[in-house]
Amino acid sequence: MPDMFCSYDLHAHSTASDGSLAPAELMRRAHAAGVKVMALTDHDTLEGLAEAADTAQGLGMDFVPGAEVSVTWQNMTVHIVGLGVDRDNGVLQRGLAGLREYRDWRAEEIGRRLAKNGIPDAFDGARELADNGLISRTHFARFLVANGHAADVRAVFRRFLVNGKPGFVSGQWAELEDAVRWIRAAGGQAVIAHPARYKMTRSKLRRLIAEFVEVGGEALEVVSGSHSRDDYFNMARHAREFGLLASAGSDYHGPEHPWIALGRLPALPDGCRAIWKDWAEH
Ligand code: AMP
Ligand code: MN
Ligand code: MN
Ligand code: MN
Repeated sequence: MPDMFCSYDLHAHSTASDGSLAPAELMRRAHAAGVKVMALTDHDTLEGLAEAADTAQGLGMDFVPGAEVSVTWQNMTVHIVGLGVDRDNGVLQRGLAGLREYRDWRAEEIGRRLAKNGIPDAFDGARELADNGLISRTHFARFLVANGHAADVRAVFRRFLVNGKPGFVSGQWAELEDAVRWIRAAGGQAVIAHPARYKMTRSKLRRLIAEFVEVGGEALEVVSGSHSRDDYFNMARHAREFGLLASAGSDYHGPEHPWIALGRLPALPDGCRAIWKDWAEH
């Protein structure tokens, strides 16, 4: 891999949540794409970590066990990635189990709301697509696309699943403080995922970062598959100003989202302190 690409990818999803590749297949593709250190960070579950760790070990690729924790902060959903977590930690496991309970209820509620809007069977459809993994809005989106309600996943979100649309249910996820506490209890480092993607003013984002620092958060995802080049530099500046480490992750969900590829993240901007700088070589 040329030096222009980052050899770390610290944010990705598998079929354990809303990714479309099984953990083992994700690891194989990351390795083939030249990633040297790969994380699995499924939404609110540790279910895929064992399989991913085994596969990465077989490939000789370094693996970082993680999770992306759903948080509600000031009525908005914010995602906190935990990196280097112990998948056997009871505090983290119980915290995530509580979020999955809410998620199950929410999935039924989304189904009821869509049914009232003339789309029956969406809950069963989404559950089937989730294939025993947790049910996310992405599964609803895939079901609605498959049934001709929208052209693609992004169009479904726009028309049905975001604030103000028929299938939207406002989140009641973890407190910011609890999410960070669970991650730290499991020996991990907490990272604000894709910070430039929240629809927040700059001052609100800075309040989020300040609170995150106060409760023990350690890093900002400066380079993200969903960030623009300008975002990299703006988030690098926030990280520097708050004394936070910088992380890099694709937020890969599978090959049917071709706008995000594995092994193609750019290096962190100059002046960032990488979250991996103190990690031991494996
Ligand atoms: P959930 O945690 O079930 O609310 O689902 C959130 C997931 O939906 C995110 O992690 C993304 O994978 C996906 N998502 C959110 N917004 C969009 C969007 N506008 N277009 C496509 N996918 C989205
Ligand atoms: Mn997702
Ligand atoms: Mn996210
Ligand atoms: Mn993600």
